[in-house]
Amino acid sequence: MKCLICKGDYAPLMTKDFSKSHYGFLMRDTPLVHYIKCAVCGFTLSETHAAMDAARWSELNVEFHDYIESGRSPINQPPYIDQAVMLRILSAHGVITFDSVVDYAGGHGTLSRILRKYFDMRLPVFEPYMQASDGVDYIAERDLQTYDVVINSALFEHLFTRDAFDKINGLVSSRGCMIVHTVVCESVPRDENWFYMDPPVHCAFHTNKSMQLLMDQWQYEASIYCPPARCWVLLKKASPDLESVIAGVNNELQKEYLLFKRGFVDYWK
Ligand SMILES: [Zn+2]
Repeated sequence: MKCLICKGDYAPLMTKDFSKSHYGFLMRDTPLVHYIKCAVCGFTLSETHAAMDAARWSELNVEFHDYIESGRSPINQPPYIDQAVMLRILSAHGVITFDSVVDYAGGHGTLSRILRKYFDMRLPVFEPYMQASDGVDYIAERDLQTYDVVINSALFEHLFTRDAFDKINGLVSSRGCMIVHTVVCESVPRDENWFYMDPPVHCAFHTNKSMQLLMDQWQYEASIYCPPARCWVLLKKASPDLESVIAGVNNELQKEYLLFKRGFVDYWK
C-alpha cells in the first residue's frame, strides 16, 4: 500500500492496544490497532481501520456516536461558537461568501443551528448517516452541487481512502474554499497515549507537509488559520489584497486572530 496523499512508502509506526483504553469496549473485536506512517510526508493511517469492512466501520461509528451523545465520553467537541464567530467575521470582510455553502458531514447540525440562532446565517448540512434534528436544513446526496464554501469539521481524521478526500474537494467551486477543522501536526508522535489517537474512530492523521501536498494537488493557493476556531480556510484563489484584509481584521480585533500564508499555515509545530 502506498501513501494516499503522496504515494510514498509507509513504514510501521506503532501498535496501540485499545483493550487498555477508555474506549476498549468499542474495539472489542480488534483491540490491537496498527498505525503506518508515510516516510515522505508523514501522513499516518490505521491499517486496522482501513481493512475493516464497511458494515463494521459503520457499526463502530454509530456506537461511538451514541457514546459521545450520552455525555459519558471525555472527548472534546469542536469549538462551535468560535467557528460561528470566525465564519461571521470572514463573511463580513468578504473573505468568504455565505450564499453558497454546505457543512459536509455536519452531523446533528450544531454549527448550523448556532449560526441561524445567533448570527442569522443559513448553513445547509449534508450528512449521510443521520438526519434527525429539527430545524436543520439537510441536503440530500443527489442534490449536492459545488459550493463556494465547503465546511468539514472533525472529519478529516475519519477518512481512510483517497476517494473520500477527493469527494469533498470535488464540491468546492473553482474560486471557492474548503474550511477544515482537524488536528494537523508537524510529525505524528510514536505515542499510543497521544490524545488524538484516543477516539477509536480516528484513523487518519495529517501533517503540515501532507496538507501542503493536498493543497498543491487540489490547486489551492493560500490558507488562513484561526486559532480559536481551530480551523483552516483553504482558498483556491487568493486576491492580491487578501493579506491586507487579514491584517485589517487583526488590527480591528487587536489580536492575531487570523494567520495568512500563500500555502498551508503550518501553525502547529
Ligand atoms: Zn505521503
